[in-house]
Amino acid sequence: MSSLYIYNSLTRQKEKFEPIHAPHVGMYVCGPTVYNDAHIGNVRTFSSFDMICRYLRYSGYIVRYVRNITDAGHLTNDRGEGVNRMESQAKLERLEPMEIVQKYTVGFHQVMALFNTLPPTIEPTATGHLIEQIDLIEQLIKNDFAYEVNGSVYFNVKKYNEQYHYGMLSGRNIDELIAGYRDLDGQEEKKHSIDFALWKKASPEHIMQWRSPWGMGFPGWHLECSAMSTKYLGQEFDIHGGGMDLKFPHHECEIAQNNGSHGHGGAKYWLHTNMLNFDGQKMSKSLGNAILPLEFLSGSHPLLDRGYSPMAIKFLFLQSHYSSELDINIKGLQDAEKGLKRLMDARKLLSNIPLANIKPLTEQTSIDLKIVALCEECKTNMDDDFNTAKTIACLFELSTIVNSLKDGNIQSNQLSVHSVSLLAKTFEDYLIEIFGLKPIEENNHGKLDDVLQVLINIRKEAKIKKDFATSDKIRNELLEKGVQLKDEKDGTVSWSI
Ligand code: AMP
Ligand code: ZN
Repeated sequence: MSSLYIYNSLTRQKEKFEPIHAPHVGMYVCGPTVYNDAHIGNVRTFSSFDMICRYLRYSGYIVRYVRNITDAGHLTNDRGEGVNRMESQAKLERLEPMEIVQKYTVGFHQVMALFNTLPPTIEPTATGHLIEQIDLIEQLIKNDFAYEVNGSVYFNVKKYNEQYHYGMLSGRNIDELIAGYRDLDGQEEKKHSIDFALWKKASPEHIMQWRSPWGMGFPGWHLECSAMSTKYLGQEFDIHGGGMDLKFPHHECEIAQNNGSHGHGGAKYWLHTNMLNFDGQKMSKSLGNAILPLEFLSGSHPLLDRGYSPMAIKFLFLQSHYSSELDINIKGLQDAEKGLKRLMDARKLLSNIPLANIKPLTEQTSIDLKIVALCEECKTNMDDDFNTAKTIACLFELSTIVNSLKDGNIQSNQLSVHSVSLLAKTFEDYLIEIFGLKPIEENNHGKLDDVLQVLINIRKEAKIKKDFATSDKIRNELLEKGVQLKDEKDGTVSWSI
């Protein structure tokens, strides 16, 4: 069907993509933990998988795209200890944990829509799949890869490693891992410090707890993805994705749980997206450089000079390969804005060229040949592990030809109808269908700006008359529609989407 090659993190090499049940493709991506707002780094990861899903569909595959919502049992410590993040946030915001889940799930969906990403075909929640998770633990106990201690259940990593290889994905060495945990030996109820929790007994003050064969408790972090990917995609499926930081321990443990329960590791191809940095530093909350999508759009974050459209940010993401680290900075954002405009202008121009005016050529000119070659190269690049960076470079080269056409340096009769329609189709396919981009103008300029200025003026007059109910109503209702007003120090008001 296609000649797609994918870098498989499991085998550490590029492999020809051969789905288990072509033309069907099963893809599982670890979704967000909905205890706070997704930051722009999270958006990069989910946008990358959106592009991957879109390209698979464009290539003719029927994709079942499963992306979960982690709404339970995510502990601050990697090894199944620490505090439950959902609960801490619920206490902080004085809300029910399920109100936290709802609030941040809704927010996550709004952000995903703002970035024009397609929804997954199934979006299962951890709390909606406790029965499947308990079944999985029971199977692991039955297969002697898990044991119960005082109402908690742990995965026996050493036992598993006798039959399988714990570290097959991450390349970690079990002896080194054990040595690293040595200080904790004897302080824990686990058989070995490397063992991870499948189920944790809940102390009475825990708000989120459920009934299980081992008493009241909550599931371990890694369990839900094994349970839900198996349920919706089968014991063996095609693609499992997530950010690079999930490779260990999360994905390593998922593979162990899968092998331990049914003898298959789960996915055939493991894909990992790389991290987003800001000015050279990894974007993270603790460093204070985790910019939220809405802060980007309004420009309200101190690291930004002004607001940027989600499409400019998405274009910046696509200009580098999904598995490369990406440094985001103001210059890059401004260049991305210009670059996207250039490509969208070329697309617009092409869609307006009347093909009837183009004379059919008896033989192809060198420009025709160049166009055909560059259009084919777009596909070759995407087939090479979704190389969006190189594809965009080809589109830029093609836009130079389109601009020469506009400026009259190339006459339309130098081109064949075939190459002009191929050009138009290539811009449409890659920019709109595969990359999921939209022209920035549709959001930011022209009529919309005029309309918003009218509303901004009405709000200003209301404020002068001390009619704060009206001024707040305008601001809040616009915000609900995804338009944020920003009051500047000099009294002017800017807006962003
Ligand atoms: P979380 O909600 O923390 O589980 O993260 C959701 C997804 O975002 C995971 O796949 C993470 O690997 C990914 N992620 C977290 N931080 C970054 C970052 N700075 N850049 C890119 N992806 C990230
Ligand atoms: Zn996961």
